[in-house]
Amino acid sequence: MEKRISGHTGLLALFGSPVGHSGSPAMYNFSFQHDNLDYAYLAFNVNIEQMPKAFEAIRVLNMKGGNFTMPCKNIAAELVDKLSPAAEIIGACNTFVNENGVITGHITDGIGFNINLQKHGVEVKDKKVVILGAGGAATAIQVQLALDGAKEINIFNIDDEFYKKAESTKEKLAVKVPDCKVTVDHLEDQETLAKEIKEADILINATIIGMKPYDDQTLVNKSLFHKNLIVADTVYNPEKTKMILEAEEAGCKVVGGKGMLLWQGAVNYELFTGKEMPIEEYQKFQSK
Ligand code: NAD
Repeated sequence: MEKRISGHTGLLALFGSPVGHSGSPAMYNFSFQHDNLDYAYLAFNVNIEQMPKAFEAIRVLNMKGGNFTMPCKNIAAELVDKLSPAAEIIGACNTFVNENGVITGHITDGIGFNINLQKHGVEVKDKKVVILGAGGAATAIQVQLALDGAKEINIFNIDDEFYKKAESTKEKLAVKVPDCKVTVDHLEDQETLAKEIKEADILINATIIGMKPYDDQTLVNKSLFHKNLIVADTVYNPEKTKMILEAEEAGCKVVGGKGMLLWQGAVNYELFTGKEMPIEEYQKFQSK
């Protein structure tokens, strides 16, 4: 066995529940080892009520950084010392970094999503974006789109508990990023959806529709796709959703959700270590 863990090894961890399925420990530990960095990354099953104690542990153990997943992202934002601009607007964080005892919370889902678009040659600046969904992933993307200079964001959500969240995001962005026009409509209003998609540069699905077991469903009638529309999905299982396949058939440029996951990890790694994550090497290692 390799002599990797020492008396100096710095600890990073994922907090949330459940965490057992997470790919983060494998990805970060591979990268630390690859880059010869003396860190170890674990996953701790922690619920909301236990988070104040988890924060005491983070401080007492002088943990270098880590991540928060459901259901702990909102409470984490209340327990950190500082928040990134996006995390402050959203009121949630999925990543923390401990610099000399000062813990900063970040939210990197939206950053990962936008970098994935960039890697596919798509810039969001000055673009009109239609986005379906108002949950955790959708909100992070909406805020990051606004911070990265999107001209207009049209949010559509079904009439459920998330609809209010879309309205709250619209109100917050009106104050924090007033140059970005934000509209919120019901997904059931197919006429407005068709009108907005017709004029849009980018269409994003950030709902659970398209992922297993909803993989035979799509929220967008394929007659609405036009050649100038870039169609992106947050769903990564399956890698190509029904919406992405139909958009491809219609001649649209498409961007799947897998890259969002990867680039979000790379952004986190850079926050933890100041280095680029060895993505290609990790992908090769994974496919072995
Ligand atoms: P969430 O529970 O916070 O939000 C769920 C969203 O789906 C809400 O907007 C809700 O209104 C919508 N929804 C639920 N049922 C619907 C229906 N029948 N019709 C239309 N809309 C419906 O979930 P989340 O964590 O934001 O995840 C949303 C999607 O984003 C999932 O598909 C998830 O796989 C994906 N995601 C991807 C990444 C990535 O890295 N690629 C990261 C996080 C989430």
